[in-house]
Amino acid sequence: MLVFKFGGASVKSADAVRNIVSILEKYSDKHIVVVVSAMGKTTNAIERMIEAYAGGNSDVAEKEFNFLKSYHEEIASGLFGKEPHDAHAAIECLLDQLKLRLEKEPTLNYDYDYDQLICYGELLSTTIISHFLNLSGLATRWMDIRRSLKSDNTWREARVDWELSTRLVNEHFEFNGENILITQGFLASTINDQSTSLGREGSDYTAAILAYMLRAENVTIWKDVPGVLNADPKYFDDTVLLEQLSYLDAIELAYFGTSVIHPKTIKPLQNKHINLHVKSFLDPEAPGTLVGNLSYDKLTPSFIFKMDQVLIRTSPLDFSFINENNLEEIFGIFSKNGLKINLMQNSAISFKMIVNNDKRKLRAVIDELEKSYKVSYQTGLELVTIRYFDQSTIDRVMINKELILEQRGVHNIELLIRDLG
Ligand code: ASP
Ligand code: MG
Repeated sequence: MLVFKFGGASVKSADAVRNIVSILEKYSDKHIVVVVSAMGKTTNAIERMIEAYAGGNSDVAEKEFNFLKSYHEEIASGLFGKEPHDAHAAIECLLDQLKLRLEKEPTLNYDYDYDQLICYGELLSTTIISHFLNLSGLATRWMDIRRSLKSDNTWREARVDWELSTRLVNEHFEFNGENILITQGFLASTINDQSTSLGREGSDYTAAILAYMLRAENVTIWKDVPGVLNADPKYFDDTVLLEQLSYLDAIELAYFGTSVIHPKTIKPLQNKHINLHVKSFLDPEAPGTLVGNLSYDKLTPSFIFKMDQVLIRTSPLDFSFINENNLEEIFGIFSKNGLKINLMQNSAISFKMIVNNDKRKLRAVIDELEKSYKVSYQTGLELVTIRYFDQSTIDRVMINKELILEQRGVHNIELLIRDLG
């Protein structure tokens, strides 16, 4: 049994959906669990809708809803034509549910509301694709992942209940005549069936979880890039494809922010020695990247860029030194507000943290820190991590940049820099 994951870009239009049918046709002798994300930029659009809904901005929420509706209807008519078809009815049913939900008052818990609404992206995409696979002669069963993948109620960053989910997943994900079981990435639910989500870009993680629980032969993540590159071509010329990656290198690269693989994806696969392929859905015959129990001599430097970073400096108001009591308090504030620290560094009297510029969370954190610390912060910075660095790779990154802070390890260096224009 194989697990395939198709991300938003691979299902962003009717033609894109036809392309994944042609990929799946090549594997018609296999049992495949297909994990799919929301179509194109749907999750971002739903996020804007939720923001408007929670803020009482019903006009904007309605506009976003209408956009989502016509986007999915257009893809559906591209696939099924305009005549009545079960697929159209199923899509309208989901859109009606979403609409009803938006007519309810928001609760006081933004993150809870978020999870109850964000799930429609994946529910719509899998519904459309499952109908189309069946229409194309690929026998497929649609699975609601929320029946099988159970989590706690940490809304938007739900933690999987591995024991319960393993049992349910193995009970439900059975091939009964069909070769394909299609399900939603990114989603789970609590034991009392409230929807949860696993964190943005979490569909890769879902693929890994299912592969682990079902002991899959291997996992393939189908992307719009040829595989894992040593840098994001958006920020870097002359990127190279990393044809092979050890689990450890893949974990390190994902942890530091390589956008190709979600950081939580590798561990479950490593644990069961399941290989991961990252391949291009535009060039399915090309080998892509293989992640597994591999070793190699040539260590290609990789570059990971995080843009729009904020450096926060804190020092105790009473001029005391930074110690474990301060740190406990500082980390508590970050953890409570769900703001992730990308890098930290301390001196005797100050503690510095680099975070993403998430305005909502940043404000809350700074307000709380200011009760006990002198706080200053600097925005508009870039954080670059180089794995397998040397001086020439550092020089390359530093062209026309000012160094604000650096941290060196044996294999990785992190440079916080400011663009000098
Ligand atoms: N649709 C979700 C997101 O855009 C999950 C995913 O794509 O992996 O974050
Ligand atoms: Mg996505």
